[in-house]
Amino acid sequence: RAKELGKSRFKVFNRKMHDQALQLMELETDLRRAVDLREFEVFYQPIMDITKRRVSGFEALVRWRHPEHGIIGPNDFISLAEDTGLVYAIDNLVLEEACTQIKLWQHALGVDSGADLTVNVNISGRNFGQSMLVSQVGRAIDDAGLDPASLKIEITESALMDNPSVAEDMLQQLKGLGVSVCIDDFGTGYSSLSYLQRFPIDVVKVDRSFIIEVETDTDSQAIVRTVFSLGESMGLTIVAEGVETKAQLDFLEGEGCQFVQGYFFHKPLTVEQVDTLLADMRLDN
Ligand code: C2E
Ligand code: MG
Ligand code: MG
Ligand code: MG
Repeated sequence: RAKELGKSRFKVFNRKMHDQALQLMELETDLRRAVDLREFEVFYQPIMDITKRRVSGFEALVRWRHPEHGIIGPNDFISLAEDTGLVYAIDNLVLEEACTQIKLWQHALGVDSGADLTVNVNISGRNFGQSMLVSQVGRAIDDAGLDPASLKIEITESALMDNPSVAEDMLQQLKGLGVSVCIDDFGTGYSSLSYLQRFPIDVVKVDRSFIIEVETDTDSQAIVRTVFSLGESMGLTIVAEGVETKAQLDFLEGEGCQFVQGYFFHKPLTVEQVDTLLADMRLDN
């Protein structure tokens, strides 16, 4: 009887978990297939230099074109990709594609220096321990014939903090290739400011959560001002993420901000949309 009771309780308890587990397993199977079939598309969000009023580069942002569910954003599959180890292959696909694509756009615009039109690529913290990572980055640059100064690797602040010594070693190696290093989502990962000095960092991206209320919330203002002045004194480039309104832009401009990314200027764009944007830019000159 006890056994039966246990069994039925098990059943009740298990119904929902069973469904969820099944869904997750299905998604995992789909994701494996997606990696094999390269069902991913890279979108590119412009990063604006507001002092020169032009596009300085792009952040590569992955999307999954699921055959039944349509476009799935990274927030809905990257953590599963991390748990299953698939994120290594995904980040590599994005890296290769982004390097090839930015080279084409540089060519179309006739830029003289690779540093004039750059591409940012996100690398998951799960890949830090992968000894192949640095050589993959080197190979992606070589295959694309890209100036290493054109590539910026984005690493989240929290990923840095999870394993500082492994991260530091990897960042040093990346710097050795001549690529730049960005701390992403800065301000959310509880890093001590001394890390800005310890790690070989070129760019700090101030997290969107501090930009949302920047024109009204004095705490956000204080944080943003502090990061800008730190950037200035330490020779770091600062990018404000997630700028959506004119008021936010005005505040940031008043604080001497140079680089801005956000819906106010552009959402992440398809390759075709960027082609059009760059063609218009050429006509403007
Ligand atoms: P992230 O690296 O911080 O990228 C910025 C995210 O903010 C993007 O979301 C972008 O679309 C969004 N965003 C930009 N401007 C605005 C704005 O003005 N308002 C709002 N509400 N959102 C804005 P997305 O594309 O959904 O990517 C989410 C996260 O997924 C990224 O955050 C990054 O952590 C991760 N991710 C994206 N692509 C990759 C990839 O290829 N590899 C890895 N490992 N992670 C990726
Ligand atoms: Mg990023
Ligand atoms: Mg970010
Ligand atoms: Mg962010």
